Order: sequence, then structure tokens, then C-alpha cells
Amino acid sequence: MSGDILKIEDLKVYYPVRKGMMGKTQYVKAVDGVSLNVHKGEVLGIVGESGCGKSTLGKAVCKLIPVTDGNIVLNDMDIARMSENQLRPYRKQIQMIFQDPYASLNPRMSVHDIIAEPMEIHKMYSTKEEIDQKVTELLREVGLDDYHAQRYPHEFSGGQRQRIGIARALATEPDLIIADEPVSALDVSIQSQVLNLLSKLLKERNLTMIFIAHDLSVVEHISNRVVVMYLGNIVEEGTSQELYENPLHPYTKALLDAHPIPDPTKRKERVLLEGTIPSALNPPTGCKFHTRCKQCMEICKQKAPEKYSVNADHFVYCHLYDGMKSAE
Ligand code: SF4
Repeated sequence: MSGDILKIEDLKVYYPVRKGMMGKTQYVKAVDGVSLNVHKGEVLGIVGESGCGKSTLGKAVCKLIPVTDGNIVLNDMDIARMSENQLRPYRKQIQMIFQDPYASLNPRMSVHDIIAEPMEIHKMYSTKEEIDQKVTELLREVGLDDYHAQRYPHEFSGGQRQRIGIARALATEPDLIIADEPVSALDVSIQSQVLNLLSKLLKERNLTMIFIAHDLSVVEHISNRVVVMYLGNIVEEGTSQELYENPLHPYTKALLDAHPIPDPTKRKERVLLEGTIPSALNPPTGCKFHTRCKQCMEICKQKAPEKYSVNADHFVYCHLYDGMKSAE
């Protein structure tokens, strides 16, 4: 791994919401000042409960939704405020694999046309034969057969449709792939097949990927580093090993404890996560996790915690670590 392919700087994505006919416009702060880097060749996992802003962050980086503030620097170019025309050359560099393999494929297009479309849009090949050849190669790479090219999405199972979505994402030979909960809509038995395929492709193609999931066990196996998000903010960031062996933030600990541990000798007392994530329309003051945190102190209700550096690769935002070296 070398260098950063993507730098996200103080990114904000707010959605306006008007209350009543004459009401004042309020803002849902879906992503509220997120900064992170993605190194070339790594898989960065982003985890958190539904509503934490992880999918919004992925869509904002793909420029599928507008950004309120902050920078998205892709290969040294800030794309955050580019117009659609300016963006065109960069669209090829980032591709997305969507959560729902049923909704993300056009039912009226053949599999060939679905995979060929991005290559045609970006004028990657000059002849139809070259595109046909590439479609065949991509189908084989994701474990499908040549004859599948002439079929339509409804003729495939969920796992096969996600393979088609992966082939489409690979078609432009992107620098960065954003996989937004790519296996959560699939049966458990199929999930591991699709994860194994992604792992194989990551190694063979030396891909860089942001892997978004709510399931920590899925992220652990595929990611080099993991970022934990809560209510629009990062709360902890570290290498997969560090984060799973030495989680520090009470929210990360609770997420990890929510998972069953098969080995009874390794079971310990669990920190259970109670209540639901508060509304991003009216987030709690201070540390946004304080309404659910069993270790909440007075300062947590008033002041948002700083970013503290545990070591060069591990950061935590929590007042329990006040006194540690500030990372800002
Ligand atoms: Fe809990 Fe306070 Fe840490 Fe927030 S800052 S996670 S409320 S201890």
C-alpha cells in the first residue's frame, strides 16, 4: 500500500426538512464533519447502526448526492463541488456496489448491456468486439458463464445479481470501489460466497475499497482498517486487528459485544447497547453518544470530545481518554 487515493476533509451532508407550511427549515445532519483518508490498495471498513451516516458518506463520495461542505480529494483533485460536466472524467475512477441487487439492475437491460454500458459511456474501447470480449472476461471473473450475458436480471438469484453488480463496478477499471452493504440483502449461505469473491478480486486486482456494513464480523474479515461511525461522526478509527483486540470507545465495545462468541471460554460480561440512535434532526449536545453511554460523565453532556491518538493508527473520540495526546 502506498499513498492516499482519497482524502475526505470535514465533510458535511445536511438534508433540509421543513416543519409545517410556515415552519422553519431544519437540517438532518447525516454526515457532520467527517475526515478520513483511504490508502491505495487497502479496504477501509465503515461500520455503525442504521442512521449513523455511513451510506450517506459513501453516496457523497460517489457524488450521487450533493455535499453541504468539506472536501473530497480523489487522486489530488477536489471533486466535492464539481459540476456534472467537470465530474465526467472522475466518474470512471469511483464505482459503487449497491446493497440491493434486485433494485440496482435495470430489469429491461440484458446482463451484457448492463456491464457494457459504463464502458460505452466512458468510451473505453473503440469496437463492439472489444466490449463483447471484456463483458465475457468480467462475467467469468465473477463466476458467471458466457451465456448469462444474453439473460435478464429477473432470471438470476440474489447472489448472482450481486455478481453482475460487481462485474459492472469493475467494468471501468476504477481506482476506488465503494461497496454499500453488499451482502446484507443476501441469504447467510450466499453472503460468504460473495464475500469470498470480493476478497479474491481485491487480491488479484489490488483494488482499493470502502466497505460499508452494520455487521462488524463481516467488516473484520475483509478490511485492513475500520472506522466506526455514530450519528454522523467518527467515534473510533484503527487497524482491524487493533480495533477488534483493543476497542476503546464505549460504542465500539457495545457493537462488538452485540456479536455472539462461539467459543464459551472467550465469553465475558457484555456491554449491551440500549435504546435507539437519536434523531439526526436534533442530536444530543456534547458527545452524541451520551444518551446511551453507561460511562457518561457531566462533561460528556456539554462538550464534544476531541480526537485522541492511541498510536499512529488508532484514534478515539471520547472524554474517558482526556489527557491522551490530541490528534488534531
Ligand atoms: Fe461515553 Fe462520555 Fe465517552 Fe461519550 S465521551 S462515549 S458519553 S464516556
